[in-house]
Amino acid sequence: MNQTERLDRLPLRNDLRGLHPYGAPQLDVPILLNVNENTHGVPDDAREAILKAVDNVLVGLNRYPDREFTELRRALAAYLGHGLAAENIWAANGSNEVLQQILQAFGGPGRRALGFPPTYSMYPLLANGTGTEYVTGRRTEDFGLSAASAAEQVRELAPNIVFLCSPNNPTGTALKAEVVEEVYEAGEASQAIIIVDEAYAEFAHDGTPSAMALLPGRERLVVSRTMSKAFALAGARLGYLAAAPEIADALRLVRLPYHLSAITQATAVAALRNSDSLLANVENIKIQRDRIVAGLSAFGLKPAPSDSNFVFFGGMEDPHAIWQGLLEAGVLIRDVGIPGHLRVTAGTETETSAFLDRLAVLLGR
Ligand code: PMP
Repeated sequence: MNQTERLDRLPLRNDLRGLHPYGAPQLDVPILLNVNENTHGVPDDAREAILKAVDNVLVGLNRYPDREFTELRRALAAYLGHGLAAENIWAANGSNEVLQQILQAFGGPGRRALGFPPTYSMYPLLANGTGTEYVTGRRTEDFGLSAASAAEQVRELAPNIVFLCSPNNPTGTALKAEVVEEVYEAGEASQAIIIVDEAYAEFAHDGTPSAMALLPGRERLVVSRTMSKAFALAGARLGYLAAAPEIADALRLVRLPYHLSAITQATAVAALRNSDSLLANVENIKIQRDRIVAGLSAFGLKPAPSDSNFVFFGGMEDPHAIWQGLLEAGVLIRDVGIPGHLRVTAGTETETSAFLDRLAVLLGR
């Protein structure tokens, strides 16, 4: 009996029937460049600080943690700057959970969320899980999204929630500030919550504006971030958002009590205190990212401009053969299901060289 048949025997919700769980393959391969992790390990000094912080809370682990995670919210506000205070911050177990809570509070049956594919593949799944209708907007042929087009589609579709992913996963490209501004205005009629998912913001080219700067006076704007990428803490599960304090109040209505464990809170606070050390590899990752873009162009392939820690590229005759050929050499990259394209995470210098060298062989360059 396969998984679908087994599920069919259960009284599962009708709208979950036939669905497949999200998840990139977790293969045992030496070079993992498939899920946009930071491939640099946690530096020793940060590791020691986290160990100490976790040790400090262990004795009180018989008690529930601070439900308001106040110290963590203060530390996140200080990290973000932009005049933000603890009351503007909310956090959860990964930005996936933050997004889920937004859908629980502002989506749901009879409500509609809008995304612009190709974009982060969890948006439709989170919508579905919360009974929210998911509608898709259009991009240009080269996956761009102009302010005028995005705003027009928001007016047309009257969503309750809009997902703008910047830099966008899987294409890697950041949105101009005017896209957020015009989408926000266009969302006035349907009172849409505008989410700018900035999971990869720290990797953007210098001068790329963050939507954080647009928060003052925009109470329906939410900017989400994560410690999974630049901070190299994907395993710790800590995502967060900045928004008007009322947004955090709304999420208090749907969050599970004590959703952030004392261990998670201690880990994240210690990590933020050691942010210089944890973020030290961001510049190197950006160099590797730019090296991948240049290398792929030199091979005659078509990489999209990237402000993130990964590169989306087309121009291959047989992407699956390339994906397979790389895997056979121990390099796992991602087929994101967009015909003719693949996505690769910028790893360490050695990992990036292994990817480019093997790709050159596969392309006969
Ligand atoms: N947003 C985007 C665009 C992502 O790519 C990811 C992770 N792949 C997430 C959110 C969620 O990350 P996390 O839950 O680890 O914070």
